Amino acid sequence: MNSDEFRKSGHALVDWIADYLEHSDRYPVLSRVAPRDIVNALPAEAPEDPEPFEAIMRDFERVLVPGLTHWNHPGFMAYFAITGSAPGVLADFLSAALNQQAMLWRTSPAATELEEVTLAWLRRLIGLPDSFEGVIYDTASIATMHAMVAAREAAVAEVRGKGLSGRDVPRVAVYCSDQTHSSIDKAVIAIGLGHESLRKIPTDDAFAMCADALEQAIARDRADGVLPIAVVPTVGTTSTTSIDPVPRVADVCARERIWMHVDAAYGGVAAMLPSHRHLLDGAERADSIVVNPHKWLFTPFDLSAFYSRRMDVVRAAFALTPEYLQTSEAGSVKNLMDTGVQLGRRFRSLKLWMILRSYGAKAIRARLADHIRLAAELTSWIDAHPDFERLAPVPLSVVCFRWKPATLSLTEAELDRANERLIDLVNSSGDIFISHTRLRGRLTIRVAIGHLRTTDAHVRRVWDLLLQSSQSLR
Ligand code: PLP
Repeated sequence: MNSDEFRKSGHALVDWIADYLEHSDRYPVLSRVAPRDIVNALPAEAPEDPEPFEAIMRDFERVLVPGLTHWNHPGFMAYFAITGSAPGVLADFLSAALNQQAMLWRTSPAATELEEVTLAWLRRLIGLPDSFEGVIYDTASIATMHAMVAAREAAVAEVRGKGLSGRDVPRVAVYCSDQTHSSIDKAVIAIGLGHESLRKIPTDDAFAMCADALEQAIARDRADGVLPIAVVPTVGTTSTTSIDPVPRVADVCARERIWMHVDAAYGGVAAMLPSHRHLLDGAERADSIVVNPHKWLFTPFDLSAFYSRRMDVVRAAFALTPEYLQTSEAGSVKNLMDTGVQLGRRFRSLKLWMILRSYGAKAIRARLADHIRLAAELTSWIDAHPDFERLAPVPLSVVCFRWKPATLSLTEAELDRANERLIDLVNSSGDIFISHTRLRGRLTIRVAIGHLRTTDAHVRRVWDLLLQSSQSLR
């Protein structure tokens, strides 16, 4: 592709993207293709000869677009709603062109130092102290795995060299709640602690970790000769966005000398709002914390911000420089490859920088507050309706509830099936995509509000669809 062709195709592509970002709601939000449709529509062999970009784009529209579930659609309210915002899209485009690989400071001084600057901006926006050093990983799952490696490094002598097995080391334990994201399960599995080392502490009526039960579990383990190494409280759990009592957990961790890793992947950015600053109370005492701009900060997937007050421990666990990567400036600069498994790092900070500058913190705060307002509005309609039952508090922008018709007496199993059916009916509209969870055994509908362009009209639409579809279910 020469530069004239690039210019021509690039302009056409930018036009396509601009239309898409403005009108993504032209498409059904949840893809309607059947399994294998995409595979069957494409040739089994790569082409031997060059094909024009227009032809490739035609196939993109014909074959791939129907197979997209539109996460960038304002009716996307499943899982956590996210946004690939325009400045972030431009930044990713530019980043691909620059193809920076910031393993060492010298392989990209700009990417290395912009990462430091943008993470400091974000840290101050959410009110974390400057003692936290940041690094960008792809996802919160990877950030949490790195936190667990650091906790292991801090707690078990010579673990980097000698590992855990075949020597005199006690069994270790990690604590989270029964609502914690499955990434912590995968982390303990991946780093060889074993799934049985994870203790799921019960939660209270608001789905928040019971700190008393945490203390008891730690005491039991100590009495049994088990070594507690980490506690993972969450600010904004995946099912209900519940908030664990981080200040109390911080007290326990300080007293017991245990690594505290706060999973604020979803909820952390809400601390940008003065009204929600308290969400991160106690997090200033964390050893590490993860916040995901790719969840609720309008950043195209993927970009996860990991902060630690003890990045020296992370480096002690991971720094390893083969001869061919030695540099004369190593003592006076940061080399991003020292802070994790990954050697190569792409220029992710560019998109966060462009987003924060393009919108400004005031406008971002206004959108976050608006999402919280929209969730409160939906909550008020649910609470006022005799046929709907709310199943969890709504601290942020996710609402959990079920249909439970007042005039029909249905068993729990029938209610589960009816609610599954209701979700399918809403999703078949093409306008809205919602998902489910299970709370205290009950099939629960989750409406997650978080896309940049979601408005009152979209929330009204989901409510109308729920009312209409539940009538037809009767
Ligand atoms: N933590 C929480 C609370 C989550 O809800 C999620 C995903 O939804 C994760 C961690 C994992 O996020 P990621 O996809 O960035 O690994």
